[in-house]
Amino acid sequence: MASEPQPDDGQHISPHAEAASPDELRALVAAAGRVLHAQGLADYLGHCSTRVPGTDRVIIKPKHSARVRSPASLRPEDMAVIDLDGNLVEGREKPPSERFIHTEIYRARPDVTAVVHTHQESSTVLGVLGAELLPVLHVPAVLTSGGNVATWPCPLLVETPALGREMAAALGSAQLCHLQGHGIVSVAGDLRAAVLAAIAMEQLARVNLTILQTGLRPRVITPGELDRLGNQLASVEGRWAYYLQAASAGAG
Ligand SMILES: [Zn+2]
Repeated sequence: MASEPQPDDGQHISPHAEAASPDELRALVAAAGRVLHAQGLADYLGHCSTRVPGTDRVIIKPKHSARVRSPASLRPEDMAVIDLDGNLVEGREKPPSERFIHTEIYRARPDVTAVVHTHQESSTVLGVLGAELLPVLHVPAVLTSGGNVATWPCPLLVETPALGREMAAALGSAQLCHLQGHGIVSVAGDLRAAVLAAIAMEQLARVNLTILQTGLRPRVITPGELDRLGNQLASVEGRWAYYLQAASAGAG
């Protein structure tokens, strides 16, 4: 196991995406794919992206193919670069057919610099049920803004700009969105935060499904308590380092 940090390991990213270089961002997108895969949230489906600050370029995981298989094996140089129309502008591999999830969210949300899309199971089941993501576990509840999750009632593949715009409109100003019968979207100003929120959403969804099966009414963490808890949690950097290491251990 490597003990020295590697320049392309996705960990040593500048704290603010604005200051990150395109190479650092490619490494971060590759690392995000490894983390989502290691956590069981993405297989050959699912993709994440980040904007290149100050441009209309987006670095995105390439579409799966005979050459592009597990996110666990993708390297920074394998990433695709697209414009906001979804055209490939750099890279050997095609972008995902559902790239319009990403491009249309970036158009609609100047505050968003990172998008994660997965078909993570428990969150999807909760979305199909139309059940609320109740803030019942402190760490994931803080990471998902107290369960404030939008819903897009459409199971179609987002393969056109029009469907991307519809999806982005349903997301609105939220951080998370159920794509009913399909999966979820998590957005943030930092790809690490978007991945951490997707992981937290799945943890919270699992517990919410268990609660639903009991038929009992849970004690929900209040907004005031969530505010206080927010000051006590590990940093994004600390949590990201944990999940990166877990992904590396799994790959080894
Ligand atoms: Zn999808």
